[in-house]
Amino acid sequence: MSEPRPTTLVACDLDRTLIYSPRAFWLEGDDADAPGMVVSELYRGEPISFMTRAAETLLQQLRLESVFVPVTTRTIIQYQRVQLPGPTPAYAVTSNGGVLLVDGEPDAAWSASVRRRLAEQSAPIAEVTALLESRAAAAWITKVNNAENLFVYAILDRPAMPDAWLASLEATCRELGWTVSVQGRKLYCVPQSVTKHAAVAEVRRRTGASTVLAAGDSLLDQGMLEAADLAFRPAHGELDEAGFVGGNLTITGSRGILAGEELLRLLGAALGRLG
Ligand SMILES: [Mg+2]
Repeated sequence: MSEPRPTTLVACDLDRTLIYSPRAFWLEGDDADAPGMVVSELYRGEPISFMTRAAETLLQQLRLESVFVPVTTRTIIQYQRVQLPGPTPAYAVTSNGGVLLVDGEPDAAWSASVRRRLAEQSAPIAEVTALLESRAAAAWITKVNNAENLFVYAILDRPAMPDAWLASLEATCRELGWTVSVQGRKLYCVPQSVTKHAAVAEVRRRTGASTVLAAGDSLLDQGMLEAADLAFRPAHGELDEAGFVGGNLTITGSRGILAGEELLRLLGAALGRLG
């Protein structure tokens, strides 16, 4: 893949940063005034994720000017459903940093180093799974999924989940070396040793990139944003609710799918200034 400026990485979260399900559009105004959209993901034949048509054009341009790295908590299979404009990225991070795809294929050396750190630094996945499968939690947790034996996520009835239970889960997970993140209807428990920012640092090392720009919306993106030279986040999501700010951080003016478009405009402008 020939790219004119391989020295800048753009590490970008996918869900609710770059692509949006209808429940996260947060569009105000009439349907007739809504932006044109393109489908970014099908699930069982149905379109479920989108970006604006303008965002697609901006992303195409960004990919010509940088090494664009999709960085997601999605599993490999969930990631492979996402259709972004342009060729297969040279690097992509899935499974919250647990997997590094090089030209679309999992990198064995990275997987081995992740498994090693996991075994050394975080409690076994079965202990955390048991917390989510407890009888008490059955009233608000409808399903618990194992993601590639790296982390677990549950499907939630969020209004039914007591704040006190979440706080106690967070405290217990912290002692076990795990992090909790709630995003829409999903609750993630992820080992602290499996992070997006470690995987992005590895891509930086391999590409020799001098500059990293990063964008993301959730707690699982925070480390990646803090480690980046310039960071961007939408005015929605877990980090917004937490009031997350930083010296290197720019926040969009818009929310929802229009914030996705604005993020790409901000990333493109930052690249232009670096250029
Ligand atoms: Mg996200």
